[in-house]
Amino acid sequence: MGHEYVGWVEEASSEVTAVKPGQFVVGSCATSDNTCADCRNGFQSNCLNRE
Ligand SMILES: [Zn+2]
Repeated sequence: MGHEYVGWVEEASSEVTAVKPGQFVVGSCATSDNTCADCRNGFQSNCLNRE
């Protein structure tokens, strides 16, 4: 934790299933795909496709 942002989800399209409006969220300053081996094992900060 260090440079993450926080906020409330205001709206989301019908394709978004991980969060919903009104939910409090914490986001990383780096993106992860949530599909690679590291992400699937719960280590999104080590994502192989991190940007
Ligand atoms: Zn990943």
